[in-house]
Amino acid sequence: MEVLIMYTIEHARALDQKDMLSHFRDEFYIKEGTIYLDGNSLGLLSKRAEATVQQLLISWKDYGIEGWMNGSSPWFYLSESLGAKMATLIRAKENEVIVTGSTTVNLHQLLATFYQPIGKKNKIIADELTFPSDIYAIKSQLKGKGLSPEEHLIRIKSRDGYTLQEDDIIQAMTDDVSLIILSSVLYRSGQLLDMKRLVEAAHEKGILIGFDLAHSIGVIPHSFADIKPDFAFWCSYKYVNGGPGAVGGLYVNERHFGIEPGIAGWFSSVKEKQFDMKHDLEYEHHAGAFQIGTPHILSLAPIIGSLELFEEAGIQVLHEKSKLQTDFFMSLIEQELDSYQFTIINPREDERRGGHVCLHHEEAASICKALKAYHVIPDYREPNLIRLAPIAFYTSFEEVWNVVQIMKEIMEKEVYKKFKNEREVIA
Ligand SMILES: *Cc1c(COP(=O)(O)O)cnc(C)c1O
Repeated sequence: MEVLIMYTIEHARALDQKDMLSHFRDEFYIKEGTIYLDGNSLGLLSKRAEATVQQLLISWKDYGIEGWMNGSSPWFYLSESLGAKMATLIRAKENEVIVTGSTTVNLHQLLATFYQPIGKKNKIIADELTFPSDIYAIKSQLKGKGLSPEEHLIRIKSRDGYTLQEDDIIQAMTDDVSLIILSSVLYRSGQLLDMKRLVEAAHEKGILIGFDLAHSIGVIPHSFADIKPDFAFWCSYKYVNGGPGAVGGLYVNERHFGIEPGIAGWFSSVKEKQFDMKHDLEYEHHAGAFQIGTPHILSLAPIIGSLELFEEAGIQVLHEKSKLQTDFFMSLIEQELDSYQFTIINPREDERRGGHVCLHHEEAASICKALKAYHVIPDYREPNLIRLAPIAFYTSFEEVWNVVQIMKEIMEKEVYKKFKNEREVIA
């Protein structure tokens, strides 16, 4: 028998009362009167991140070139020291992670390194729902090897247009597949794949497998010690709150240490030897080998402060709140918006969804514009999806309640009809 609970604002307030993380809200800059639900696209600025940007500006001011080895965060070792800290977000070993590059650049690096087609074992599996940049990178790497995307890239089809079936992916793992690239969490539907099952199936077939963590790092505590994928890559401006253009990261499982980086540069070098300036590269035998050139120090700076907050809160605790908030959000949408043709697209089970709620509505673009007029910041994705991400660090349950009430008003009073149902340049 279904037990029907009628949620009220008191429920939301009670959940906020019990929230062990509520004090972190003061660590962030949140615009007065605005409810920010787009931390899955660009996390907000924290005071810590602002402070560490200031610190690195000061180290430049004070030390000039000497800043590489001096100051509170010597620049020369920053990518490695941040890598060791970021490794805790995915339970990897310290030297399996390096903070470098961006999602797309790191994917290029990892493809150039790990995609080694041999004879007929030369195909790459991705999926038809993945982020376009990942597909562009795969296609260009195939072309660089003289192979054709039409023949050598297999895109797993979605049965419902939003999610993937692990069974379909495993079915496609035939003898001619060399490498698999998938997202941990799908950027639109928010589906979280069963990575461990996929890794085991791929390895049984002698296929390498890597994951794009753009939509899971900082919200889902992966256990890479247990999942053991071959590699992974991500950005730091979404749930990691590193700011626009923050430096991304990558993971390479230690069983691959010693492999030659496909795209080499002097920062791939063993650090003590880098300034020997020899023309024969001695690359690191850990994730550091996959760096290319001089690190973008000022875009690493906010990550120092942001990761302090993750260390204090704990990724497991953040995830518990995230699950509770998305679940509460969905329950309220069902309770309050039942008559307005919203469909919840993301999987409902805790272990199958990421950090955002994904709604389908024919009027999605105009509803998003109406939400912005009410100072709620959602995220629109073509052709008719609304993504809403409560962020454990700074979103309250009462805000979730209020957003659903605002959505109800927008639908009841048909406020959305004042706006064109079309996307602006970005969202
Ligand atoms: C955000 C995102 C990207 C963005 O790539 P950048 O190189 O950081 O611009 C790539 N892939 C996925 C799945 C994303 O969600």
